[in-house]
Amino acid sequence: MSKITRHRLPTISCPHCGARSMVRTSEELDNLVREIRFTCSDEECNHSFLAQLSIIRTIRPSGKPNPKVHLPVANPQLCGPKPRHANDDTPEPANDVGVTPPPAEITMSG
Ligand SMILES: [Zn+2]
Repeated sequence: MSKITRHRLPTISCPHCGARSMVRTSEELDNLVREIRFTCSDEECNHSFLAQLSIIRTIRPSGKPNPKVHLPVANPQLCGPKPRHANDDTPEPANDVGVTPPPAEITMSG
């Protein structure tokens, strides 16, 4: 079952004339996808179109996770323990900061 509601939703330009479009209605298709009906604000154009707003990735995990929701994680380092890779044994330094230069060559005279 879906419900039609009027909320403040992101706007999008009309693909034909580039004018600002106005949200007419929006319908929740499921907990990840919402369909939004837009109408162009340019009366001469008057284009009416549907757009979809979909949730595609997790940025920060929910404190109240729904077991039915399975979203890819945008940045795994921000979400839970860092995944271990096979080549984690010898991490390369990100840059040369902190790397001790090799000892100067000692020249013996005499
Ligand atoms: Zn238009």
